[in-house]
Amino acid sequence: MTVFHVSAECYPVAKVGGLADVVGSLPKYQTKLGLTSKVIMPFYNNTFTQQHEFKTLYSDTLWMGYAIDYRILTLEDNSLGYELYLVDIPHLLFKDYVYSSNDTDRFLAFQIAVLDWMLQMPAPPDVVHCHDHHTGLIPFMMSQSHKYAPMRNTPSVVTIHNAQYQGWFSHDKVGLIPEFNFYNVGLLDWNHTINPLAAAIKCAWRVTTVSPNYMEELKQRANGLESLLQYESGKCVGILNGIDTSVWNPKSDDYLVKNYNLSSIVSGKKANKDWLCEQFDLNPSLPLFVFIGRLVGEKGADLFPYIFDVTLRNLPVSILMLGSGDKGVEHRLEQLKPAYKGKYNTYIGYNEKLSHIMYAGADFLLMPSRVEPCGLNQMYALKYGTVPIVNAVGGLKDTVVDIAEGGFGVRHYGLSVEQVVEAIHRALYFYNDTDNFKKNRKAIMQIDHSWDASAEAYNTLYSSLKK
Ligand code: ADP
Repeated sequence: MTVFHVSAECYPVAKVGGLADVVGSLPKYQTKLGLTSKVIMPFYNNTFTQQHEFKTLYSDTLWMGYAIDYRILTLEDNSLGYELYLVDIPHLLFKDYVYSSNDTDRFLAFQIAVLDWMLQMPAPPDVVHCHDHHTGLIPFMMSQSHKYAPMRNTPSVVTIHNAQYQGWFSHDKVGLIPEFNFYNVGLLDWNHTINPLAAAIKCAWRVTTVSPNYMEELKQRANGLESLLQYESGKCVGILNGIDTSVWNPKSDDYLVKNYNLSSIVSGKKANKDWLCEQFDLNPSLPLFVFIGRLVGEKGADLFPYIFDVTLRNLPVSILMLGSGDKGVEHRLEQLKPAYKGKYNTYIGYNEKLSHIMYAGADFLLMPSRVEPCGLNQMYALKYGTVPIVNAVGGLKDTVVDIAEGGFGVRHYGLSVEQVVEAIHRALYFYNDTDNFKKNRKAIMQIDHSWDASAEAYNTLYSSLKK
């Protein structure tokens, strides 16, 4: 069976967040299970594409009210562990960013190019697996657009990594979508606008979310799509993401200052923590709490300046923050620095290497998310022996059990400054219970969140769709 993952991101080619990690690793594990799993994504102008050689497999012109030339490229070497294809549309996709505020034409052209190319393949895919709203019109076009009628019996699956973003655009642009029976235009619509994520939920053969709990939450709150998900619940299922242990493993992670395993955990974590403390002028004798991620409301970032201020004023801890996003939050986080020299620092921006060293060197990882479809950071933290402190939502609830409930992490139930500070208090109390804290570190490193089980679950889902 051949499956094509269609996505805007894929690690290491282009990454903005967890979507890239998932699309970059799931195919490897599916391949291990005997499936032919491939990825197709846009060709961006970034470090990866500048540093690699590509060969052209196909070139043609697509129609979106005017003719647009495109090429399908593939990597010269097959170093990723699965076949990767890139759609090159120079004047639309070839930018040094993945997303902007005006992406409708870019991602529509990408999706049309993908289907046009698949249509002429001698052996078309058995399953087309789309990811998030950027590829959400594919299930609609496969089932409705006249030119793709030969693909009508090909199953399509959509995975929702984040339902907040839906790719809305005006009906004025409906003419850009390849011709379809206009009686069915309602399949594109949700609340009087074209909504690619809603169209995907209506038209895909199966809908998955990246954790079981997130699927249940979406039926109650999905940025307007809750009733649709309730109505379509028969074809919906939550499958927990895994982590790619060939990339995320303290034993072999090339980014780390020192690698470690269960028997060298103390010295290994210390070496990484010492490096962080030296680079960021932090006192290494204090327990280190870190945050890594996008500074947006979904991650609870608007509360960080208050949480950090109260915590640093009252508790013997240090905090290191890596992320970027809301400019106001970035600014407020920077302003805290002079007040807490030696206890607090920030890195505003994206830094893959630093993130790995932080998972390794930290004692605790903060994830006070308001919304967390799955969350990978808490699973990386566990693998690196770092205790996660999480708001019990979405995938965080599926993966982190509180120490008070016989578990290994710290949960708070709801997001306020008081709740997070109270959780940090409990974490500190746990840290000072040195023997149990050390035992817990070893235990969490052994929790298995690798992709094996999840890849198997996706394969079972595809098999259930066989004609
Ligand atoms: P989301 O996809 O909502 O951003 P996830 O927890 O699913 O959140 O995935 C986040 C991924 O992005 C993790 O691999 C995390 O380490 C990485 N990441 C986020 N922000 C940064 C950053 N500023 N620098 C380095 N890595 C980051």
